[in-house]
Amino acid sequence: METSFYHPTSLQDAINILGRNDNMVLVNGGSDVILNIVAKKIDPAGLVYLRDIQELNYIFEDDEYVHFGGNITFRQMLASPICQRIGGLRKAIEAVGSPAIRAVATPSGNIATAAPAADCATMLLALRAEVVLVSEDGERIIPQNEIYLGAYKTKIKENEIIKEIRFPKLKDRMGSGYVRISRRKAQDIAKIIVGATISLDEQARCNAATISLGALNSTAVRASSIENQLIGLEQDEAILYAENNFPIEAGLRDSYFKEYKKNVLCDAVAQAIKMAFLEAKGDK
Ligand SMILES: Cc1cc2nc3c(=O)[nH]c(=O)nc-3n(C[C@H](O)[C@H](O)[C@H](O)COP(=O)(O)OP(=O)(O)OC[C@H]3O[C@@H](n4cnc5c(N)ncnc54)[C@H](O)[C@@H]3O)c2cc1C
Repeated sequence: METSFYHPTSLQDAINILGRNDNMVLVNGGSDVILNIVAKKIDPAGLVYLRDIQELNYIFEDDEYVHFGGNITFRQMLASPICQRIGGLRKAIEAVGSPAIRAVATPSGNIATAAPAADCATMLLALRAEVVLVSEDGERIIPQNEIYLGAYKTKIKENEIIKEIRFPKLKDRMGSGYVRISRRKAQDIAKIIVGATISLDEQARCNAATISLGALNSTAVRASSIENQLIGLEQDEAILYAENNFPIEAGLRDSYFKEYKKNVLCDAVAQAIKMAFLEAKGDK
């Protein structure tokens, strides 16, 4: 079967194409989707290329949120002073693939693919991201922690486009952390990913925390069992707690790396927490 190629230049055009045709697949950087086509995992009737849609190409912050458009690449994010200030996010993006991959690949694709070991998507989960979806039925917003149905499965419908990803701005005395464990530094799938944010009170005690875990379950998950226990703790107390308490949310799928992951996960969580504390104190 022949595959049609569409390259809409407006969001409305893209919405119309998805509304008129069945079995369309959106292509952003193509770093996941093209491999799936080559491997014959999918056989779309048409490809809808999103990169000519300029209105999906933005990063800005307002009083409440950091917003980035649906076709912003990792390289564009790294070039943005907004992302540079958020150490955990910066590290997560730097971890994705290689400069060539980051020049084309997007956070939208990272979330929509829903791979278990998705670097940026795991950090965005800790940042409490929300996904803004549009289709001919209108717009809806799904918190990222409700979007996953399982490995490589999301609630995003066939006719929906990620218009924007946004997350609440990190306020004063808030910081972020990110730790990735893999066999090699570059071009290797992570064995463990931890994202964290910490908010401090005036005495530098934690008054809110988020922890996300990737590469351990079928999808990235929040570790609320640890988050809740950090409230009221100073940096050293929080690190000690994390070092000694295994997150019950970590699924630890059966694999060759299971024992290894079990042994190093607590340390990885503790390191991410430390990084977030230091950023929150302005001591990066
Ligand atoms: C060599 C190599 C190394 C890699 N290394 C890493 C790594 O270290 N860490 C990591 O996390 N990933 C890695 N990846 C995977 C991949 O690069 C990421 O998942 C990337 O974020 C995908 O983004 P993309 O824009 O290329 O998505 P695409 O391949 O264009 O699309 C992926 C999926 O998302 C959907 N999609 C894309 N944009 C939208 C939108 N706006 N609205 C709705 N659906 C959309 C597509 O339809 C498709 O289903 C690697 C891939 C390669 C080839």
